[in-house]
Amino acid sequence: MPAPAVLSTSLSSLDPATGEVLGRFDSTRLSALPGLLTRARRVQAEWTSTPIRARCSFLSALRNQIYRRRDELADAVIRETGKPRVEALFADLFVTLDSASYYATFAPAMLKPERVQHHSVAVKAKAGRVLYEPYGVIAVIGAWNYPLAIPMGQMIPALVAGNAVILKPSELTPWCGTLIGELYEQAGFPPGLVQVAQGGGELGEALIAAGPDKVIFTGSVATGKLVAESCARRLVPCVLELGGKDAMIVLADADVEVASSAAVWGGFTNCGQACLSVERIYVEQAIAADFTERCAAKARLLKLGRGSDPQTEVGPLIRASQVDRIEAQLRDAVSRGGRILTGGRRRPDLGPCFFEPTVIVDVDHSMQLMQEETFGPVLAIRTVAHEDEAVALANDSAFGLAASIWTADARRGRQLAARLRAGAVMINDVASYFGIPEAPHGGRGASGWGRTHSKFGLLEMVQVKYVDVDRLPGWPKPWWYGYNHQLGEAADRFLQFLFAPQWRHRWRSARGALKTVFRGDRI
Ligand code: NAD
Repeated sequence: MPAPAVLSTSLSSLDPATGEVLGRFDSTRLSALPGLLTRARRVQAEWTSTPIRARCSFLSALRNQIYRRRDELADAVIRETGKPRVEALFADLFVTLDSASYYATFAPAMLKPERVQHHSVAVKAKAGRVLYEPYGVIAVIGAWNYPLAIPMGQMIPALVAGNAVILKPSELTPWCGTLIGELYEQAGFPPGLVQVAQGGGELGEALIAAGPDKVIFTGSVATGKLVAESCARRLVPCVLELGGKDAMIVLADADVEVASSAAVWGGFTNCGQACLSVERIYVEQAIAADFTERCAAKARLLKLGRGSDPQTEVGPLIRASQVDRIEAQLRDAVSRGGRILTGGRRRPDLGPCFFEPTVIVDVDHSMQLMQEETFGPVLAIRTVAHEDEAVALANDSAFGLAASIWTADARRGRQLAARLRAGAVMINDVASYFGIPEAPHGGRGASGWGRTHSKFGLLEMVQVKYVDVDRLPGWPKPWWYGYNHQLGEAADRFLQFLFAPQWRHRWRSARGALKTVFRGDRI
């Protein structure tokens, strides 16, 4: 349910294919945020005492709602982002549905209190347990490119772990944000547990200032730095899912036909507006010409159009400003020797935000295209002499989100994967691990920190508490007061008993060490 905030201005949802206004959505006043936080805290206090199995059944109800409304949800995603229907179903809907199924099934085991096995004889009389406790209120600040899959993949584990959530969707996708709020309401979640605050950057900033207990942010590097600063000032922990510049390494033994199809899909899916994607390709000399030709030929076949047309394979970019940015990167690359094999042009005949799928070769790392995130339908291909050069170039980036390696030899692929600076590496596939709920997602370097999805994403939503029960409650501890020379000696014997390199030495110290335990001189 959208936040019951005092409403002032509205946000427009635009169809990027046409520029048409799809709808207007009430935006949340900054002054309403403290009220949202108070409400979330009140509801969360009860939610956290709801047994986890019961919380999981809410997730199952949520999944059923999403499934029931999947057509309508896909339509909203298609209209508001411009992506083709197949992508809305495979990426946004599938990932969301499967995330709900996954956590509904496995969260109880993942969050079960754990017995701690103490290795040291010094603390054998203690029974320790680790408990996982929710943070309280989690602020999810989202991007627009997967307006269902990304926030839902973060909200679902936050909620099942016992938190309340305030979602601030991207101001470019307020329709999807509103639908997310409705889904939780219709699935029967306690009112106020999930609130949607609609607005732009100013609202995101104010949401952090209002004092949530953790922030899960998805967006650009520039905004991520502001979010990190703001969180640091308040000592609020945050997860940052930022941009990527994913490299694809194609070794000479790869299946060129399959690898070129993967490159084209990885580079152009969601019109290249995917954090996990194929932005840079390093292909070994022996197959470079064949691979490049196939990529260009396949790019030429792709049908541009509106996402609502079932034949469409590549939709529009989200806004015309994004088209300007891609053109600027390509201009810079061409001025430095890059050669466009296909594409490279705006398509105003189709709409204000269309750009042709583009394949460019003869690129090098002096170009913006190879250093900055492009976030558009551009495949930049560079020929390399051998795998070491490919690894060095792949790692020559501020980003470290994901990468892929193409080879007939899985062992060689794994060895190379170990050398890549990336949060994830796929061998013989690209990007699809985002749809594997067991796979942790997150970056290194400029791609951010922390993880979403998998058990690691769930553990981001909890605080670890250690609880210790002493099995000998009537026994004062050896290290308590009553310090004197004898206790100092006994303590040293105790260290010898535990850590002396020779066993003989250890046994000789045993009696002296025991004096720490049997002391008559305690206070
Ligand atoms: P963006 O940084 O412009 O905006 C992201 C969100 O931050 C929006 O909701 C925006 O309103 C909010 N925001 C803006 N200023 C803020 C501030 N000062 N404080 C708090 N919130 C603020 O990013 P975008 O254009 O929406 O998304 C595209 C970027 O997101 C790309 O760089 C892409 O790679 C990245 N992304 C990363 C992942 C990932 O999982 N790593 C996933 C999707 C997108």
